[in-house]
Amino acid sequence: MKKIASYALGCKVNQYESEAIAELFAEKGYEVVSVDDEADVYIINTCTVTNFGDKKSRQLIRKVKRQNENAIVAVVGCYAQTAPEELAAVHGVNLVIGTKDKSKIVELVEDYQAEQGVQNYVTDIMHERVFEPLEIKKLANRTRAYLKIQDGCSQFCSYCIIPYARGPIRSRQPEDVIAEVKRLAENGFKEVVLTGIHVASYGKDLKTITLTDIIRQVHEVEGIERIRFSSIEPNVVTEEFAAAMAELPKVCDHFHLSLQSGCDKTLKEMNRKYDTEKYRQAAALLRKYLPDVAITTDIIVGFPGETEEDYQASRAFAEEIGFSKIHVFPYSPKKGTPAAARKDQLQNAVKQARSHDLITVNDRMTDAFLQKHVGKVMPVLFERCVGDDVYEGHTTNYMKVHARSTKDLSNVIADTKILSVAEEMAFGEVEA
Ligand code: SF4
Repeated sequence: MKKIASYALGCKVNQYESEAIAELFAEKGYEVVSVDDEADVYIINTCTVTNFGDKKSRQLIRKVKRQNENAIVAVVGCYAQTAPEELAAVHGVNLVIGTKDKSKIVELVEDYQAEQGVQNYVTDIMHERVFEPLEIKKLANRTRAYLKIQDGCSQFCSYCIIPYARGPIRSRQPEDVIAEVKRLAENGFKEVVLTGIHVASYGKDLKTITLTDIIRQVHEVEGIERIRFSSIEPNVVTEEFAAAMAELPKVCDHFHLSLQSGCDKTLKEMNRKYDTEKYRQAAALLRKYLPDVAITTDIIVGFPGETEEDYQASRAFAEEIGFSKIHVFPYSPKKGTPAAARKDQLQNAVKQARSHDLITVNDRMTDAFLQKHVGKVMPVLFERCVGDDVYEGHTTNYMKVHARSTKDLSNVIADTKILSVAEEMAFGEVEA
């Protein structure tokens, strides 16, 4: 039996796709093995969101080829889509596929003939209009499932290469989304995370459905008890949206609301489509309808031209909003984007200093968020035993909780009293 390893670098969308690719091979009789094992076929789902992502992708290709010089190595994903020639030149690559045609990957690999040299199947993605079906049927973990409902992005933030790698927005047909959610529920999953490259755009291309509609439909599926979604933007959060989310008890009170900068000048230069006032309103609406909501975000520091004053404005805005978690990213120029071509790049030392400073703000805010829950009883979905009868799980507002139990709590939702917090997590006691 031939062996295949399918591995994703980068985001949850890539991880979802790589699992689906592994299943396509398994259906054709391949044995699925780890990327650290010797395999006959390696499928590397690359990431290009930073130059570091590119480097890691190249390193992994070389590593798998060392494991089996005769293996067929196919590279798919965002880096393959935006720099196919560069990847074709990396020793070990046999097929370059990009972000399209992943559903045909078994065929493409099986048709590969060594004497053909590197086969490049990358074609234009910028005019793609249809969501490529790729689904996961067999599921290993039985608690939280990621479900891809959307692909592509038409926002063109000035620092981001993703619209060129993934093409325009394409939404998955609602009936396909619901069929997959039902399958997940039948397999015992209690929580789904709706993911995509730009989830906020869901339905805009289909024109017959909105993000709120698909969330309502997912909410109807019996067996699913929690719904989350990956990053959304403040523009999505209208009064109607926030009220609808509060009316749907399965929707978790945790929103990753992308900020990127708390300085209006920088937001404009980033080509983000909102300002701090819009963001302030969105956060306030979520808090009005979901009082215990956790708002997490991403902030880039050291964007080209960001002065000390701009940074301080961004920092002050983050403190004003009060996040439960900020993912801090020092700006990294990405070739092919308008921001990377700017002459006013900041020195690494400045970016690092701002990054460290904002991380201290984050640590303080995370601690304050966790502390305010001490003494409360909260439902925790426990995922797994982490040793010594200690189970790990999450609250609806995404606090990580450890609690001791002699009963198996895996995939169980249990009311848990929060006793203490430390180092970004909470410690609790399951109520009798
Ligand atoms: S919204 Fe902006 S940052 Fe996010 S994928 Fe689209 S272009 Fe990139």
